[in-house]
Amino acid sequence: MSFPHLLSPLQVRSVRLANRMVMGSMHLGYEGGADAFPRLARFYGERAKGGIGLIVTGGVAPNGEGSFGPDGTVLTDDSGLAGHRLITEAVHAEGGRVVMQILHCGRYGKHADIVAPSAIKAPINSVTPRAMTEADISRTVADYGRAAALAIRAGYDGVEVMASEGYLINEFLAPRTNKRADAWGGDLDGRMRFLLEVVGAVRTALGPDPILTVRLSMVDLVEDGLGADEVVTVARALEAAGVDILNSGIGWHEARVPTIAHTVPQGAWSWATARVKAAVGIPVAASNRITTPEMAEALLAAGEADLVAMARPLLADPAFAAKAGDGRAVNACIGCNQGCLDPIFSGGSATCLVNPRAGREGEFVAAPVTAPAAIAVVGGGPAGLACALEAARRGHRVTLFEASAELGGQFLLARAVPGKEEYLATPRYYAHELAAAGVTVRLGTTVAAADLAGFDRIVLASGITPRRLDLPGADHAKVASYDDILSGRVRAGARVAILGSGGIGFDVAAALAGEVGDFDAIWGIDRSFRTPGGLTAPAKPPAPQRRIVMMQRKPDRPGASLGKTTGWIHKALLQRAGVEMLSGVTYRSVDDAGVHVTLGETDRLVEADTVVVCIGQEPRRDLAAALTVLGKPVHLIGGARDAAKLDALAAFEEGTRLGLEI
Ligand code: FAD
Ligand code: SF4
Repeated sequence: MSFPHLLSPLQVRSVRLANRMVMGSMHLGYEGGADAFPRLARFYGERAKGGIGLIVTGGVAPNGEGSFGPDGTVLTDDSGLAGHRLITEAVHAEGGRVVMQILHCGRYGKHADIVAPSAIKAPINSVTPRAMTEADISRTVADYGRAAALAIRAGYDGVEVMASEGYLINEFLAPRTNKRADAWGGDLDGRMRFLLEVVGAVRTALGPDPILTVRLSMVDLVEDGLGADEVVTVARALEAAGVDILNSGIGWHEARVPTIAHTVPQGAWSWATARVKAAVGIPVAASNRITTPEMAEALLAAGEADLVAMARPLLADPAFAAKAGDGRAVNACIGCNQGCLDPIFSGGSATCLVNPRAGREGEFVAAPVTAPAAIAVVGGGPAGLACALEAARRGHRVTLFEASAELGGQFLLARAVPGKEEYLATPRYYAHELAAAGVTVRLGTTVAAADLAGFDRIVLASGITPRRLDLPGADHAKVASYDDILSGRVRAGARVAILGSGGIGFDVAAALAGEVGDFDAIWGIDRSFRTPGGLTAPAKPPAPQRRIVMMQRKPDRPGASLGKTTGWIHKALLQRAGVEMLSGVTYRSVDDAGVHVTLGETDRLVEADTVVVCIGQEPRRDLAAALTVLGKPVHLIGGARDAAKLDALAAFEEGTRLGLEI
């Protein structure tokens, strides 16, 4: 497939962008420590090599108050230039273009000295900001100009001013957070004055040639955000002030609407970008949940945007743009947030579930082998796929055995879970790459130890088996395991009890709850933008298809073990579907009536036609002992090594590491 719109170049002032793909800004969590800039330079350099038209760096604060926290990057004087030059030189050496994002966090900063237009605490922060004085405002405007001038001296091709997601500039724009009675608040002219002064100072500092982009909030998704006409007025004012590109921001961080998780449909927000594009003459970039070249091309072809900004897709595949250019398959971001945003929001750093090399380019180095070995990999789940691919790329002769008819292991069960259908893109991509790397794949082949005698090394990636229930009635006909249900081998009845409320329990509940409604209707998104912020009342949920009760033994609140950035979404969707969630449950027995449990001091019968067991997993390594007898080196990875805390993030990483070492 060709992508004529996506691959067409764009001249912006003195800078030529090779195509319409922009790598959106991401705070990566690499910013602290001695290796920070070399690591960032390797990371961005690899993306530039992968052909992306323009890179926007993670946010850099113009002063200490605007910093994200102790590890946040600040650029206030010459001392920061040497580090930034590593980034610009690495990108330019690959023929890429890079702008530095200037981000003042305002009331979202994680430190004591935060400031905002008004002293109103953010619902997602524990610290109340100090209201800025007029002197603070003038100083901060000048700080933006200084940061822009320093960025140019560091070699950047321009800067992006961050004016969305609920950070300082957005806080000035919206009546929600700007209650000022002076010239910096009140009507829209007052509320956008700070942004326009910042843009003026930055444009002056940049001079005529470098690029100035502004990431504008196309829809705030919070009460008392900007109205539709106001967004357009701000966009036009930015065009008049000399901004070259408008990039899209969608929703504030405190919005109770998912904007990028896998439950958000692909391209769900292009309508908001299209409204602004129709009102201005400068190029506008769409963003959020655009994960494939096909999707990106479709948005551009439909005239909804001039460029496409993607962030996580460039973690998943640094060569996204080059592959789009020559028709190769892309390793698509599946929107899981497990490798990137979840660790970032827990104080860690970003990598990627489907590409464990992301952010660790200096650590995960593939050295060609001098003595190729014949390697058998048993199991085509995440661990086996990753190991087979890396080992083969280094020159080993690899044969991958998979008992079932498809590659993917347990990951395939995701296809039954609403919103997780995209997860299938990962095994599809790996299957394609395995073929290209010359791996012999034997599907539908359950191997025994004796079949492996001819290999030099054996990798056991045989995964897990679901843990069985051990209580009176466990063998009742109504008891099923999660894989029976998700694979369709067993059909659930009208009343379902789910034992275990971890990630798999939640997935089973979502699969059995069925349709919960259209995305906009569920979350109360008003595309007609009748109310400021673009929100309306969520639609009434459809009548539940089943009566579902989820239970867990732990006393914690249900969903506590789910991903930090996605758990609340899964919980809200199940609550909407009428699913009951119980914690601190002791399971007693199963019989014709259902599951007998004790909840606190009280015995209770949870009536059920089907009891689904999601209480954990055991390693599946029955081959291990027999293989030892063969006297061959055997490597255990993934669930076969340790099923207790395993997820696909760990499985892909273990497989990749072994493939690079073996
Ligand atoms: P597996 O995926 O179990 O793969 C092992 C493979 O080995 C299987 O395909 C099996 O057929 C094959 N095999 C076994 N023995 C033999 C043999 N003798 N010969 C040939 N082949 C053999 N994790 C996440 O991180 N995020 C999620 O959102 C997520 N969602 C999930 C949803 C569901 C419904 C389920 C069930 C799991 C989910 N997981 C998720 C967990 C994740 O899928 C597993 O952690 C991961 O698949 C484990 O990888 P693995 O390669 O170790 O094993
Ligand atoms: Fe995408 Fe998941 Fe990778 Fe993050 S970890 S970039 S969401 S695939």
